[in-house]
This record gives sequence, structure tokens and C-alpha cells, in this order.
Amino acid sequence: MAGSLLFLGACFISLGSFAEAQDVDSWRIPFASGEEARRLGDITGYALKMSAAAELIPQSHPSRPLVQYHAARAAALDGRQSDAVNWLRAVWDEGLQSLMISFAQEDHAFANITGAESFRSLIGLVGEMELTTRWLGGDVHLINGVGSNVLVKVSTGGVLMVDTGYGPALPALRCAINELGGGPIRAIIITHPHEDHMGSAADLGGEADLYAHIGTADAMMEPYFFMEGLSIPPKPASAIPDMPIDEAVSIEFGGETIRILPTVAHSSGDISVYFTESRVAHLGDTFLPSNPMMYPGTVDPDAFLERLEKFLDGMHPETVVVPGHEGVTGLKAVREQIRVTREAIAFVSDAISSGMSIEETARAGQDRFPFQWTTFFYQVLMQLEL
Ligand SMILES: [Zn+2]
Repeated sequence: MAGSLLFLGACFISLGSFAEAQDVDSWRIPFASGEEARRLGDITGYALKMSAAAELIPQSHPSRPLVQYHAARAAALDGRQSDAVNWLRAVWDEGLQSLMISFAQEDHAFANITGAESFRSLIGLVGEMELTTRWLGGDVHLINGVGSNVLVKVSTGGVLMVDTGYGPALPALRCAINELGGGPIRAIIITHPHEDHMGSAADLGGEADLYAHIGTADAMMEPYFFMEGLSIPPKPASAIPDMPIDEAVSIEFGGETIRILPTVAHSSGDISVYFTESRVAHLGDTFLPSNPMMYPGTVDPDAFLERLEKFLDGMHPETVVVPGHEGVTGLKAVREQIRVTREAIAFVSDAISSGMSIEETARAGQDRFPFQWTTFFYQVLMQLEL
């Protein structure tokens, strides 16, 4: 679908509504020319068009950080260091997706300025963030603010983490863990191969055992695509999981059994995690409260939903559920989303069989399902590229 943008490896689907697409779209014209210039290797054209797009895109638009990031990298490629840093600084200052600047460290476009003082101090801000922590149950805590929800189990034998957030946030993360009384980081469970969940895997891999799905291990050995046409290099050997997982397993850590279930829903390597004593579950991006349940179009959605349901059935009824992003919730919310997902899939497949277009389907379903759900499932079921 033209003009749709996927944030950070499909964490947040930002399809934009069709209505919205008509009135706030002036930025898309320079953006498209900028993309074209980039493809043709016209660096100056890329830089000019992307900064024009970044000036035009409305403050509240979900794609704004992406466009600003393009403006920054294009300026860096074009040899204008201070413009590059200023655009990155704008991404940082504007909040929500600010940790996108984390990619800049690995992006070849910034290679000439990664040593510059202004660039280093900007990246340093990420490491100096003050993170909020919240106790969830047993000895398990949530750490917010590093790009995704990170769980930390603080036990006498050391710390086990679920996900790491973005790489440059590691100093801030260590600081928060110390404040929770945590010792050395001994184990990390990575829920899936997206940078906002595994950004520090390489740095921590030397000191901790890494657990991840076999699909995550494979994905780490490939370049990571974080924007159309843009990628960062494969992970170094230290990030590759010590314990690749391809079936349900339990591990023992700090006096607790931790169950791990492959869900393979949102990426090629998703797992969900359940702390049986602390009664806390981390579902990764398999479950995101305001997005549809995700599964690859090539795999049977019924099987995925059944697998997840069975995992939930084995949990204590009061389990605190942590999604990959957004706030914590309970099992009821996940079950409800599974129910709505099944309904939405049935509704969309009926619409497709009766020959309805994506717009017609979204309109017909608007009273029952969020707009982005129907359009997402329509595209998945039609096996179109998002
Ligand atoms: Zn994510």
C-alpha cells in the first residue's frame, strides 16, 4: 500500500486513515521525491527534499520521527554535520519515537559524524535517561522508557531480563537495575528480533546467557531493515543466542520456573514468557493492546491463536500481562483481543470472498473493529505487502 510506513520493524502499524491521508499529505510529495533521489544516489536531492518534508509534516503525525530521521541522515551524507545533528535532536526532543536516533549509531549514513562531539553527546542523552520502574509481582519489575517494555527479575543469583530495549539506553538500564538492587545480568530472554527489543544483545551477550527463538538467531545474522531501503549491519557473534528455542521450554532461574512459548506471530522469531511464581507474563509484540494480533500471512492464524490461548490457560488467573509496548494488563484483555481478532478475521475473509475492496471492508466494519484491524487483516489475507 503506497505511503504506508512501518515503524521500527513493524512494532506499530501506521497505515494512516484514508480520510486523514487527504488533508495532511503535503509532506508526502517532497518525501516521495526524496526517496526517489535516494534510490538514484542523488544525495543533495535526497537532503533537500527530506528536509522540506520534515518541515511540512504535522507535529502530531506518527511518521514525523521517520521523516526527521531521513532529513538527518540525508544531511549527514551531504556533509552538513550540524544540520544532521539538529534533525536528530528534533527527533529526540519530540518524544515518543525518540529512541529512533539509536539507529544513527549503526547507520552508515552517519559514519562521518559518529565521532563528533555533538553527535556523541546526543546519543549520550539516551544513556542518561531516568527510567521509571514498577514492581509487578514476586521479584519481577518493569522498566519503562528504553523503547520497549523490559522485565527484570532481581534474585540473589543475579538478574534475568526479558528484552533489552535500544542499545544506547543500556547505561540507563543498568542504572535502573542497580537501583532495584540487582546484581550481575546473568540471562536475557529476547522476545523477537527487532532492534527496540534486542538493541543491547551484543553488549550484554558477553556477560549473560541469551535465550531467543531460532528465528531470532537467524534474523540477527542478516541486516536489520528499519526503514524502507535502510538497514543496519548484522549483529556480531556476541549477540547470537546461546540457547536457540524452537519449542515450548521451561528454564529455572532464581528459584523460579520460567516458561517460554514460541508464538511466531509478529516476526519470524517471537516467543512469550511466563514467570510461574511471580505470576507475570511478557508476551512480546505477539500482543499489543492497540494493534491487531499479528501473525504472518503464510501461517494458519487459527493455530497461532490456539497456541497462545493454551499458553494463557496455563497461567494463574491473576497474572500481570506485559505487552511488548504500552501499559500492563491482565489475561482478560488478551483473551478479549483474541476473540475480536477471530471475529475480525472472519469478517474480513467474508468481505474478501464477496469481492469488497479494502476501503469498503474498512467502512463496513467500522462500528465493530478498529479501522487498522480490518485493513491489516485484509492485507494479510490478501497476502499483499504492507
Ligand atoms: Zn516492538
